[in-house]
This record gives sequence, structure tokens and C-alpha cells, in this order.
Amino acid sequence: MKITVDEDTCCGAGSCVMTAPDVFDQRDEDGVVILLDAEPPADLYGVVQEAADVCPAAAIRLTKQ
Ligand code: SF4
Repeated sequence: MKITVDEDTCCGAGSCVMTAPDVFDQRDEDGVVILLDAEPPADLYGVVQEAADVCPAAAIRLTKQ
């Protein structure tokens, strides 16, 4: 799985960070998402998928490899 995030679309809601803190963080200044791990291990796929599903801005894109 490969993850990309759209920083322009992200509204800083932080749902992804709450759901998958090993993969997502937020910038201190404006809350915009920081991608910590673009190719996470398989045991994180579930929470990463959940994070993408709950993102209110649909800013998280997952590519299955
Ligand atoms: S859940 Fe979506 S909108 Fe919220 S911080 Fe994460 S990427 Fe941005």
C-alpha cells in the first residue's frame, strides 16, 4: 500500500492522526497533515484504511500495490 495526502485539500481536522498516529501527524502551525510513513507495514493497513474513510476532506489516497 502506498499513501498520498493532498495538503491543499486537508482541513486539519486531525481524524487521521487520532485513527493512525503511527502514519499521520499534523503541522503545529496550521494542523495540516504530515505523512510519516507513505508505505506502512501490512499490520497498519486496517487503521490506514479507516483513517482515509473518516477524513472529512477526502485528502488521503491509498494505492494498493
Ligand atoms: S483527517 Fe483528512 S482533513 Fe483531517 S488532518 Fe487528516 S488528512 Fe487532513
